Amino acid sequence: MEDDLRELYQEVILDHGKNPRNFARPQNANYEANGNNPLCGDKLTIFVKLGADNIIEDAGFDGRGCAISIASASMMTDIVKGRSIEQVDILFGIFHRMCTGEDISEVPSEFEDDIDKLMVMSGVKQFPMRVKCATLGWHAMQAAVRGDEIASSE
Ligand code: ZN
Repeated sequence: MEDDLRELYQEVILDHGKNPRNFARPQNANYEANGNNPLCGDKLTIFVKLGADNIIEDAGFDGRGCAISIASASMMTDIVKGRSIEQVDILFGIFHRMCTGEDISEVPSEFEDDIDKLMVMSGVKQFPMRVKCATLGWHAMQAAVRGDEIASSE
């Protein structure tokens, strides 16, 4: 593995990639959406239990993908729990800027801890193809909470 790639695949990412957190459909999940990144072959489904006041009570995912996409979705599903849709929008905005190498110097204090955790993904800015991997789960999360309700066939 090349040195710069080794740097990208930091230990935290490898850990989340190999042992993804929340890698299941939570009980009572009421929203879901699929994310597809054909460039890399990442296919994820994000599940959300959205409660009163648009608070994300639980989140999970399954699917297949590269270590970056799996690790990012794993970290995201941890971070969004207890957050509102509006807060997730803000977090994703900052995370997206981080992944594309834009300025993130003005992080609201309520998100500083989350952004610190997500900082391990910031190496993708050197790999434009990988930005889609890192943001796939977040895009699907946004689609899910925007009302892509599960069409039950039962
Ligand atoms: Zn990928």
